[in-house]
Amino acid sequence: MYREITRHLEFENKLLCAFRQSEFYVVFQPQYYTENKRLAGCEVLMRWKDTEGMISPGKFIPVAEEIGLIVQMGEWVLREACRVKKKLPVDLMMSVNVSSVQLMTPGFTKMVEKILKEYNVKGEEVELEITESVLISSFETVLDILKELKRMNVRVAIDDFGTGFSSLSYLWKLPIDTLKIDKSFIDDIHTNSNKRRLVDTIISMSHDFSMRVVAEGVENIVQLNYMKESKCDIIQGFLWGRPVEENEYIKLC
Ligand code: C2E
Ligand code: CA
Ligand code: CA
Repeated sequence: MYREITRHLEFENKLLCAFRQSEFYVVFQPQYYTENKRLAGCEVLMRWKDTEGMISPGKFIPVAEEIGLIVQMGEWVLREACRVKKKLPVDLMMSVNVSSVQLMTPGFTKMVEKILKEYNVKGEEVELEITESVLISSFETVLDILKELKRMNVRVAIDDFGTGFSSLSYLWKLPIDTLKIDKSFIDDIHTNSNKRRLVDTIISMSHDFSMRVVAEGVENIVQLNYMKESKCDIIQGFLWGRPVEENEYIKLC
């Protein structure tokens, strides 16, 4: 147990140093319109390369959340997104992940407003991805934050939709623009008829409420064809595009 705690503390320390020493960078995963494969925008994803190689976000983000560093990291990612956005030859949406810790930090919306102004980026060109779990734990507070973001025209997406058991009945009360269907639903869509029914329902209800739907983790043609049939608006996955570095993304635009 002692060794475990020491290892954890060492990792926290390494993470803090790495962030100060700029070992982080962002990549851009393209998102495409399902019907015509036109580029719709991208999701901005954080990467950490240390001397021994890549460390996955799945490993460092929970630790960054624990020590509160995610607040600074998230701010930096939004700046990076806006910086690159200004270099693009066309106006395309940038989606940025927001951790629940960051969302609930006082002054979050002011920070977003300040960065958008600094880079002269319009609110409607940025989409912030939040997870379902934060809605469940703090519905009223999140509602106020989302209303404030709407006032700034900033778009909001619910990430990993379907994994958090949120009730559809209260989801529709929130000012949400996009639902991102979690990869776990897409993975076995061709073999699991229950998941298929659920995905169809999510898509048709979302459209009734004027939300767009993004399918995450589309890796093969079967999944793609199913999402086409289901009239899913946007595809994000390795089949059409892996996350790429800044210059490569600019070329795609
Ligand atoms: P996420 O927000 O659900 O991001 C999508 C993840 O799925 C990314 O993993 C992406 O590389 C991966 N992915 C996309 N298409 C496919 C596919 O077809 N197949 C497979 N196997 N994977 C696919 P990544 O970059 O490792 O990020 C993992 C998670 O870490 C993200 O999940 C997000 O929750 C978190 N994360 C990454 N960057 C940030 C960030 O800047 N801020 C915050 N708060 N979280 C971040
Ligand atoms: Ca995301
Ligand atoms: Ca996701």
